[in-house]
Amino acid sequence: MRFIDLRSDTVTMPTDAMREAMYKAEVGDDVYGDDPTVSKLEAYAAALLGKESALFVPSGTFGNQLALFTHCKRGNEVILSDDSHIVMHEVGGASVIAGVQLRTLPTKKGEMNPREVASKIRGEDIHYPSTGLICLENAHSNGRVISLENMAEIYGIAKNHGIPVHLDGARVFNAATYLNIDVKEITKYCDSIMCCLSKGLCAPVGSILAGSKDFIDKARKGRKLMGGGLRQSGFLAAAGLVALQDMIHRLKEDHENALLLGRELSKIPGIKVEMDDIHLNMVFFDMQDTGYDSDQLVDEFFNRGIKINSAEDGIMRFVTNYWVSEEDVRHVVKTMKELLSA
Ligand SMILES: *Cc1c(COP(=O)(O)O)cnc(C)c1O
Repeated sequence: MRFIDLRSDTVTMPTDAMREAMYKAEVGDDVYGDDPTVSKLEAYAAALLGKESALFVPSGTFGNQLALFTHCKRGNEVILSDDSHIVMHEVGGASVIAGVQLRTLPTKKGEMNPREVASKIRGEDIHYPSTGLICLENAHSNGRVISLENMAEIYGIAKNHGIPVHLDGARVFNAATYLNIDVKEITKYCDSIMCCLSKGLCAPVGSILAGSKDFIDKARKGRKLMGGGLRQSGFLAAAGLVALQDMIHRLKEDHENALLLGRELSKIPGIKVEMDDIHLNMVFFDMQDTGYDSDQLVDEFFNRGIKINSAEDGIMRFVTNYWVSEEDVRHVVKTMKELLSA
């Protein structure tokens, strides 16, 4: 049975082109620097992101944690938003791996206030930790794109203090698609960036960490320490190359499908959709006024071939992706209407 899977864009299967590229990939032992496909992916990613070097890493979480570990010394303080992925969804890894303290700031729809960031940068005092890094996230996991103005302002403050900026750009290509700009217009406001190949871009495994040559040289050794020195990983990198070469330009289809899904859901009585918050492939909505239990919805949808997650704090999230067509979106809306009126 084919499911329509709206739980996340992490559920995407590799495309036929990826499977073929993986089958044919030329590989070698990448810890020896012998894998031509990994090297090709890393060079391609670095150029695309406008950085000197790039490194293939097993996951987005790995890339973020490796960035913290590479930029910071133990006991450093990292300034970032309290709703960021690094704070919320990385198992507290920053305290375990990099051994850093996280200084979290509230956001307005994902954007930190630059003045507040500036005020949290530590001066010299025997009691204080040193500020080692500032982290941004774009696109934000709340489904919104952070403005370039906000990034530029925070980046400027960081540079004035000689502090590096890391961008969690798991969905940076979605952000560039939304802003209709080259991704380098975003990445110029960070020193290092992590982006995922495995979400909307459909690669089965892997992320990229990019930055200066010195930074990536150091990160390569950190990756080994963390157990991420992979051997014939060209099989995975081959799919990653297809992701970067062929899958970015079509992300706008996912965004259009999300807008369609949001518009149609908002027409259903009792469902509230924040249409202004649909920047990417994510639709957040509140259906508590329908009186329909969201756990029951998960079961009923499943029985009808649709996978969704239950509500979190009363808010549902549906995510479109390569494997969800416009027809699928219309089918989901129809199914929702049928269930609510039954
Ligand atoms: C998914 C995600 C990550 C982590 O990626 P994994 O590959 O799931 O570890 C990091 N940051 C953001 C914003 C994400 O959405």
